[in-house]
Amino acid sequence: MHEISDISFLPNILSNPIEYLKGVGPFRADLLKKELNIFSFHDLLNHFPYRYVDKTRINLVREITSESDYIQVKGKLMNLVLAGDGRSKRITGIIKDASGELTLTWFQGINWIQKNLTIGNEYLVFGKVGFYLGLPQLTHPEIERWQAEEKNTRNFLEPVYPVTEKLKARGITGRNLGNITANLFSMISENDLIENLPGSLMHRENLLTRFDAYRNIHFPSSVILRDRAVYRLKFEELLISQIRLGMLRSNRHRYSKGIIFGKVGDLFNRFYNDHLPFQLTNAQKRVLKEIRKDAGSGHQMNRLLQGDVGSGKTMVALMSMLLAIDNGYQCCLMAPTEILARQHYEGISGLLKDLPVSVAILTGSTKTASRKKLLAQVESGEVQILIGTHALIESAVQFKQLGLAIIDEQHRFGVEQRAKLREKGENAPHILVMTATPIPRTLAMTAFGDLDTSVIDELPPGRQPILTTHRLEDSRPQVMNFIRNQIEQGRQAYVIFPLIEESEKMYYENLMRGYENIKAWFPEPKFYISMVHGRMPADLKESNMQRFVSGDTQIMVSTTVIEVGVNVPNATVMVIESAEKFGLSQLHQLRGRVGRGSDKSYCILLTGNKVSAEARERLSVLCATNDGFKIAEKDLEIRGPGDIEGTRQSGALQFKLADIMTDKLILEKAKSIAEKIIAMDVKNPDNEFRQLLDHLQRGKNKTPWSRIA
Ligand code: ADP
Ligand code: MG
Repeated sequence: MHEISDISFLPNILSNPIEYLKGVGPFRADLLKKELNIFSFHDLLNHFPYRYVDKTRINLVREITSESDYIQVKGKLMNLVLAGDGRSKRITGIIKDASGELTLTWFQGINWIQKNLTIGNEYLVFGKVGFYLGLPQLTHPEIERWQAEEKNTRNFLEPVYPVTEKLKARGITGRNLGNITANLFSMISENDLIENLPGSLMHRENLLTRFDAYRNIHFPSSVILRDRAVYRLKFEELLISQIRLGMLRSNRHRYSKGIIFGKVGDLFNRFYNDHLPFQLTNAQKRVLKEIRKDAGSGHQMNRLLQGDVGSGKTMVALMSMLLAIDNGYQCCLMAPTEILARQHYEGISGLLKDLPVSVAILTGSTKTASRKKLLAQVESGEVQILIGTHALIESAVQFKQLGLAIIDEQHRFGVEQRAKLREKGENAPHILVMTATPIPRTLAMTAFGDLDTSVIDELPPGRQPILTTHRLEDSRPQVMNFIRNQIEQGRQAYVIFPLIEESEKMYYENLMRGYENIKAWFPEPKFYISMVHGRMPADLKESNMQRFVSGDTQIMVSTTVIEVGVNVPNATVMVIESAEKFGLSQLHQLRGRVGRGSDKSYCILLTGNKVSAEARERLSVLCATNDGFKIAEKDLEIRGPGDIEGTRQSGALQFKLADIMTDKLILEKAKSIAEKIIAMDVKNPDNEFRQLLDHLQRGKNKTPWSRIA
């Protein structure tokens, strides 16, 4: 996605098809295309080494430990023995240096070894250390005759490139891809890789030129230059992506025509003065101000509202909707599940019951007759707030004047669904996306870099932190007793089972076993247990959920379907089974289902008796903090950005070199420079970033992800 350089902009030689490169030819070209997507010289240039071998370093056999990775040993070949037959046919040799002896084994290329190696000669051997029967050995090492006079020319780091198994099998290894790349470098010069950054910036940041950076990432003259090359290329990559995102944002601000919510009207004020059941927190007030300012500015709002579980996003949503209605527009609020939609509907209708606002709900289970009537009311503008699920974005739903669309718990909605929603109005409605999965700053800057963000960073007063502990299977009796104890005090409990992605059948069986197990712990007739899961018919799910909400059942056995938004203030215990199977942010979300009332609440993370150190550490993060932002940071650190929900499909994270966690500082710097560039006159031909801007211009149709909104 973020091509470091864009092929359409390159002079001819780099756009040459790969088969024209010396050492490639049609057969290898085919493999390179299929296996590595390398079609042109340019693609090869952008296929970077993932590690380097220091050929200047020769190890002694004695130095090898169980920690050793790749080693290079120089010594005399002592013998060569052919052994085994069929698949286990192999040839082994012994290489001896001043410190000891090392076994070499080849299962392939046996003939070549027999023909080319001579016992008694000195060789240089390179390979990855493995252990067989406790002794170190090298399997399929590279081996070449030692030539003393060549020593000095070995003064470099040799690149090793990522290749696939198939390429290896066809004789193209990670190291000999380097030979092909070297051929490429013998054909090109500075003129083929034109500098795109202004001299002043290069000077200030001490950056290598583009050409030097490419040369030194492939064939470094020293470790320092290699590092500088990587830095320069990451910097360029991040700068380009930041400029692209920043331009999208600023173009939206400058050129998109948005609906204007110009006034704070009667409804808003009446609600604020007479119906608000509590004081808004300062964070809620600030965010409302941001939304008001944005929606009044004349450009279309595309705002991401982040707020930890329980931070009161719904109230912000409601008051934003009143603002829209006061200005003559309709609004919709879209939730990811029917249960949540219903809950929003009931909550919001209740809060607005004494005000002249018409609120309606539309979900998949709305019956045809009432649906028809409802759709007519939406089209006529009679319905002012429409709450619902995915059903809202079906084309049958036509608004008279949709001014604001709110999406709750955004990560459940795909990019396409969001786009559909935006097409619901003649003028694109303002969009507010709400999420309780906090997005670490680096992600917000990249995956969501074209959205404006608001953060509710404060919980309503009086919340008691949820006490979280990790317990092993051995303590199950105590855990069940704890639930019993809470229930006997009139409280309710959740028991959550993980989704097993590998097999839907297993997942279901697992849940059923879990349910039976819980029933066995609570056999007395006074205990009632509900269960919901994703495969249940909607109405059954709904009624089981309702029984728990109304307090008719004390225990809810469930999968993660209750993850988002469900509000049962009387529930004070959450037990999460096989907690190690969940991501941290998801556990935090789940945990947010308790601690919603005034009673002290508990979350118990259950795992088997054997837990990996890594899982133990992960779970300890959750026990240590209730701060969703800290947890999200940690989650990102542990799992990497590709796994964070909602960002998986986002091309915005597909950097070739940069890593948004470890390159945070470069990212910050790139962002601040990008902001300056965007604030300049980008059309001015004398702009010192002309080269870079032209470069971007040519690649601008390559960012479909940038329309995420
Ligand atoms: P979330 O941000 O997770 O969607 P909700 O909007 O469901 O959180 O709010 C959680 C609970 O906090 C609700 O019961 C809501 O009524 C309450 N709440 C929201 N804002 C405040 C406030 N400023 N003061 C007190 N309680 C509040
Ligand atoms: Mg919510």
